[in-house]
Amino acid sequence: MFFEKYINAFTSSFFGMVNWTWRSITFDVPWYTNYFWGLIVISLIVWGLEIAFPWRKNQKIFRKDFWLDGFYMFFNFFLFAIAISGFYKVLEVLFSDLGIKTSSLTILDLSSLPNWLQLVLFFLVLDLVQWYTHMLLHKHPFLWQFHKIHHSVKEMGFAAHLRFHWMENVLYKPLKTFGVMILGGFEPEQAYLVHFFAITIGHLNHANIKITYGPLKYLLNNPVMHLYHHAYELPEGKKNGVNYGISLSVWDYIFKTNYIPEDSGKLPLGFKGDEEIPKSFFKQLTYGLRKSKP
Ligand SMILES: [Zn+2]
Ligand SMILES: [Zn+2]
Repeated sequence: MFFEKYINAFTSSFFGMVNWTWRSITFDVPWYTNYFWGLIVISLIVWGLEIAFPWRKNQKIFRKDFWLDGFYMFFNFFLFAIAISGFYKVLEVLFSDLGIKTSSLTILDLSSLPNWLQLVLFFLVLDLVQWYTHMLLHKHPFLWQFHKIHHSVKEMGFAAHLRFHWMENVLYKPLKTFGVMILGGFEPEQAYLVHFFAITIGHLNHANIKITYGPLKYLLNNPVMHLYHHAYELPEGKKNGVNYGISLSVWDYIFKTNYIPEDSGKLPLGFKGDEEIPKSFFKQLTYGLRKSKP
């Protein structure tokens, strides 16, 4: 039967993800591919740094929404990833049935380059398409509805990194897939290095620690720069937002969306109207999907 192939693709991908996650929890995968414990270890290290070297000295160790954000980490990284994996697999099979393969858009063929250079290019392309997607999330009211959840953080700490609406996973996907397609469907063998690096930088960007990496601040996003991304008050002429960088800050310097007026760390966070964001996780789940009140 025609649909059987799709149903099989859906279930095998779904249960494959459940199985992989369970094997990660029980240490039954190579340690360097273990995102479950990797995320926990990175979180504990960055949290430890926040406690030892706090930037805003009077911020509590268990800051506002600490547990909510802690739950979001696991929800967005694992639970939602499991829930969506079957749908993505079905789309992949559908596209390949239509003759669209990951190699049909190849612009850069990386296969002949040394490993480290492949990794760097993979990282650059993925980071740029995410920078661009992030900018779109701020620009278009329909997309901003979902991104508001991330900007509802009122007190910043590492776990705020992964407080975002599940729709963001979906919205980032097309351009990320496009980026991988440009590279000929290339996902380097050591891509886990890139992903772990991105998680660490993302955690640090939201952490209550003042580090800017010296002259590397023009390359790497950092806590001072990203705190201004979350500023309640935006500068004149940049009302959509500033500092859209994900792992790299360099795109903001290139496209002139950089803005760091000072580095006290004491600025109001959120956005105008953020009191309308529901406090509970379950209400946030459907936020942006319901018709908002006039
Ligand atoms: Zn944003
Ligand atoms: Zn953020």
